[in-house]
Amino acid sequence: MKLFKQTLAMVVALGLAAVLTACGQDAASRDALAHAKEVNTIVWGVKADTRLFGLMNVKTGKIQGFDVDMARALTKQILGPSAEATLVQVTSDTRVPMLKGGNLDTVIATMTVTPERQKVLDFSDPYFNAGQSLLVKKGSPIKTVADLKAGTKVIGVQGSNSVDNVQKAAPKTTVLQLSDYAQAFTALKSGQGDALTTDNGILYGMSKQDPNYVVVGGTFTKEPYGIAMNKGQTALRLAINQALKELKASGAYTRLVNKWFGDIPGFDAKEVE
Ligand code: GLU
Repeated sequence: MKLFKQTLAMVVALGLAAVLTACGQDAASRDALAHAKEVNTIVWGVKADTRLFGLMNVKTGKIQGFDVDMARALTKQILGPSAEATLVQVTSDTRVPMLKGGNLDTVIATMTVTPERQKVLDFSDPYFNAGQSLLVKKGSPIKTVADLKAGTKVIGVQGSNSVDNVQKAAPKTTVLQLSDYAQAFTALKSGQGDALTTDNGILYGMSKQDPNYVVVGGTFTKEPYGIAMNKGQTALRLAINQALKELKASGAYTRLVNKWFGDIPGFDAKEVE
């Protein structure tokens, strides 16, 4: 009897898993643009741990940042003024599985277009040009990536290509991977690492939050951000590309760049476009 019950529970669990997987697959492979038009919203994966791009405001419970504003503007540009973006939190590590699992239509989350990612996802035209850099405590002897030697510890975030990039640029340094940017910055401040590495825009957000930490050494990679979607979502990809062009032509894009990055010392807002 016990064995029967166990077998039954297993069959039910397997059945449920199969149904959930099938739902996810359906959502990932159905025409995301046609569905978005039906429900008058686009479901975007956005960061909630990344100041200036997507950060949870704990007072209001709202996520704010450049990527979030872009998601809102693109939704209206594509579906019309009555449409609202639906925002779902992702991290560097969860964005690809969540997209592939059919939970999201698209991801706008400081995500570099890379050849590896292009094997499994499609991307819009680049909408923001970042580059990888280093954040250190003021007065740190680390001034550039060349100062990352054996014995230095660099903090990065799981699922970001910054980890691979720094391992290539400074193969002797130790890389510590944390699960998101809030934790990574806390780890740097508590002395768990000598530097934090990711894209310059993200690091400027941390430096803005705590000016005892500074961005050093310029950029050592090129990180063009794209909006990611499942392979085969051609209608959505073309609609996003068209809407990006329209937002650039109307000046709305530049206004958003200036809103978030205009007053950041050392950050050239013109370089991102
Ligand atoms: N742009 C890099 C990436 O796509 C780093 C930023 C991030 O972790 O989102 O991985």
